[in-house]
Parts: sequence; structure tokens; C-alpha cells
Amino acid sequence: MANQFIDTARIVVKAGDGGGGAVSFHREKYVAAGGPDGGDGGRGGNVVLRVDPHMSTLLDFRYKRKYAAENGQDGRGKRCSGKDGADLIIRVPLGTLVRDLATREIICDLSTPDDFILAKGGNGGWGNKHFATPTRQAPRFAKAGLPGQSREVLLELKLLADVGLVGFPNVGKSTLLSVVTRAQPKIANYHFTTLSPNLGVVPLEDGRSFVLADIPGLIEGAAQGAGLGHDFLRHIDRCRLLIHVVDVSGSEGRDPLADFDAICAELERWSPALANRPMLVAANKADILEAPELLARLRAHVEAKGCPLYEISAATHQGTRELMRAAADRLAQLPPILVYAPTYVERPPEVDTSAPLEITRDEDGTWLVDGPWLRQLMANVNFSDYESRNWFDRRLREAGVFQQMEDRGVQDGDAVCLYNLEFEYQK
Ligand code: GDP
Ligand code: MG
Repeated sequence: MANQFIDTARIVVKAGDGGGGAVSFHREKYVAAGGPDGGDGGRGGNVVLRVDPHMSTLLDFRYKRKYAAENGQDGRGKRCSGKDGADLIIRVPLGTLVRDLATREIICDLSTPDDFILAKGGNGGWGNKHFATPTRQAPRFAKAGLPGQSREVLLELKLLADVGLVGFPNVGKSTLLSVVTRAQPKIANYHFTTLSPNLGVVPLEDGRSFVLADIPGLIEGAAQGAGLGHDFLRHIDRCRLLIHVVDVSGSEGRDPLADFDAICAELERWSPALANRPMLVAANKADILEAPELLARLRAHVEAKGCPLYEISAATHQGTRELMRAAADRLAQLPPILVYAPTYVERPPEVDTSAPLEITRDEDGTWLVDGPWLRQLMANVNFSDYESRNWFDRRLREAGVFQQMEDRGVQDGDAVCLYNLEFEYQK
């Protein structure tokens, strides 16, 4: 099972929390109590997804499900900021689709080399040096850091290949890939050899090129008994063209026509869209053709369905160039590779606002409001966005925060410090 091909994975990620700000006062010999010099907390590390072109499965995620980036360090005296937490880089294969686990919405499609920040680290809290005002010269408070985001996601591998090879095991798919590209897939004269997908670039003499993928076969996966079913077809979801490889030699006593129909039925079962993908048929092992009438029947059958047939021998390279040229010609008429657009809508987290907040008054009369759920809320509100600010305001109102302040005599125009947000109170 160690070699099992893994094409989906569920992971939990947590970005680092911001470090706390420091409360500290400048001290020097012969100098009376100095001003506040507490430094800020460091930012928590992000969780970043990075495409690794050498990866072709999600196997790494089978044994490790939880990923956490480093927290920011606390600030210190003498205006020293805490160190930022290091980002955590998670490597994934090109073509990995990231979905929200609960809603299945698409968060991103890693089909370019660009990094993607999956969870943002929390900002560090401000040290007390920020809170000095003419009337409050010795602020005895600093701010805690904000929590880092956490997410639960589903990773799904959808290879980025122009052309996908389909067909029964042992028909010569891996051999074909190895002769038209520099890829070196495992080839053996027994079934069940291909356990992870292989990609290769097919170069043509005229300078054109395209990416060809050989994927684990239907029967191979099912035979592992791991419940893979025909999930492997997910990989070729975005292939623009399929090359259906059929063994026409008759050497294994198979009926090429029945094989062809069986694979088409599997494609249809998985996804009608995939079944309707343009298809070329490679009638392989022509070098050891025993019954030419099998080939003739297959040709008539597939051409009636609109699929051109190419007689080839992957072993002797007969007809392989013509097939690749035909594939390139066909690709030129087809739309580009599908890139999935994100459908995920960022929602504020479910925050339990029932716990009471801490409301205190500073020596200069500033109202200080703080508490864990307030920080969690603020870490997720975009204050430059009007809607988000309104939403935040409603949550505070519902939680009775303003009512509590009114009960304690807050007046219009009083200074309020909501965690690190300072404003004048207005009813
Ligand atoms: P796959 O399971 O479809 O990937 O098939 P492979 O590429 O692993 O090939 C299975 C067996 O068929 C190997 O022993 C190959 O050497 C052999 N084979 C592949 N193509 C040809 C061909 O064109 N002619 C002959 N005679 N044998 C071939
Ligand atoms: Mg193979």
C-alpha cells in the first residue's frame, strides 16, 4: 500500500498568532521615570501553498494532516519588536485544487507557479509606546496579538495536461508516453504497473509541444481494493483531448471493440463531460497484429462515433509521430486548459460572543474594551470595507457591548479603545 496513489487529501491548517505587545518604561541612570518603550509583538507566520513541479501525488498528506505556522514573539522593552513567526510552506503538485472542506467551494486552483496564502498570520499587538497621549503619559497597557486564521480544506489533484492517455492496463500507454516524451514511466508486461501519474512534454519537429499524461488505470486502481474505484479519472478532468489506447494485436485474446466500449462506459459513468471530450484512438501493437479483421472492425466502430483511428506500434515507433502531430492539430482547435475560478466566499468566523468583555477606564478616562472573542472578530474584519465595518458594529451591538458601556455612563465624545481601534463614542 506504500505506493498507493493518493489524489485527494483533507488537511487542517493554522496560521501563527501574533505576539503580544510589551508594557515597559524607559529607564536610565540619573533620569527620572522615562516614557513608555514597550515594543510590538511579531506577526504570526502564514500558511503558504507552493507548487512543486516534481510532485505528482498527494501522498505526503496521507500521514500528516495538521499544519501550523509559527507564532509571532512578544515585544520587549526598549522598543524591541518581537520576531515575526516564520511562514509554513506546504508543497503541492501542480494542478491541485483547494476546496473548503465544509462547503466544497473552490478556494484556489494551483495551476500556476504562484504561491497562495491559505491562512494569514495574526498581526502582533501594539506595545504601550503607541498609547501615550498628552494626558496619558504612562500607559500601563499593551495589546495582545491577533489569532492566526485556521482552515480545513480538501485538496484534489487535477493534473495540468493537454492530453490524457486512457485504456486498459497493458495496452501500451506507458510505452507510448516513454517513446514520445522524455518521461520514463514503469513499463512491464503485466497489469497494474502504473500507480502514480506520469507527465511528459511531447516536442514536435515544427516547434509545437504539448503535455501528455499517463495515469493509473481503472482496473489497476480497483484491483488495489482501496476503494479507489475509477476516481483516477479526476486527473484527466481537465485534459483537452484524450488518446484512447487499444491493444489490437489480439495477443491477449481480447476483443478490442469490447475494450473500447468498456472504457467509454467508465468515462461516461464518471462524467458525461469527460465522455464527450474529443478523442483519438491509438490502435497499438500493430507490429504483432494477428487478426487484421479486428483492426478493421474497430476502425469502422470508432470512426462511426467520430473518433479518428491511428494504427501504431509504440514498441517500434511506427505511426507514433503521425499520432502526435494529429493530437497537436486537434489541440490547436480546442479551448485552453480549464482553470477553475474560485467560488469561495470569505465568511466571518462563528464567534461566540456570550462571554463578557473586559471594560476598564484608563487614568485619562479612555474606555478600554478587550477580550478573546473581540480579538478573534477583529482579526477577521476588513476595516477598510464599509459592509464589514457595519457587520462588526452589529455584532458588538447584539453582544450588548454598547449597552454595558452606557450603563456605566459612557458619554458622547469619550475616547474608546476597542482592542486597538481608537474612536470617539457616539450614540
Ligand atoms: P500500460 O499498462 O498500458 O501502460 O502498458 P505498458 O506500456 O506497460 O505495456 C505493456 C506491455 O506491452 C509491455 O510489455 C510492453 O513492452 C508491451 N507493448 C507496449 N506497446 C507495444 C507495441 O506496440 N508492440 C508490442 N509488441 N508490445 C508492446
Ligand atoms: Mg502503464
